[in-house]
This record gives sequence, C-alpha cells and structure tokens, in this order.
Amino acid sequence: MVQSTCVKCGNTRFEVRENLLARQGIKVQFVQCIRCGTPVSVLDHYVPSAALKANAELLEEMDDYFRQDDQFVTSITSMLAR
Ligand SMILES: [Zn+2]
Repeated sequence: MVQSTCVKCGNTRFEVRENLLARQGIKVQFVQCIRCGTPVSVLDHYVPSAALKANAELLEEMDDYFRQDDQFVTSITSMLAR
C-alpha cells in the first residue's frame, strides 16, 4: 500500500480537526497534516456514533414515556373498574 504524504512538508501522519467555515457557519472536519496543518481532505461534521447515541437516548425517553403512559392507562382502568 502506498503511504499518503503531506503535499507541503512530506509528513506521513494526519489527524482530524474540527473547523468552522466562517462565512457559511458550517462545521466541518479537516483531515490535516499533524506537523504543518495542511488540510488534505474535508469530512462532513456528521459523526455516526454521535447520531446513534442521540437516537438511543431518544428511544430510552420514548420507552420511559410509554411505560409511564401504560401505568396511567392501568390506573384509569382500575379506577373505572371500581
Ligand atoms: Zn505537512
């Protein structure tokens, strides 16, 4: 496999850094040279693991809501049965 190299300094190590496009107000992630900071690629700010975590939290909230709602329905049913 060919090693990727920075076009400016020849370094072979890179990192992902969050950045904000000032005029557009959009967050992006630069893949950039760890030595000189020259960007070599731009990633969408969307991070799948963060989105999955947010969805899991939402599902937990919905589950809690429906459990409470189920208790509410059970309470009303028992009250009506009296
Ligand atoms: Zn570099």
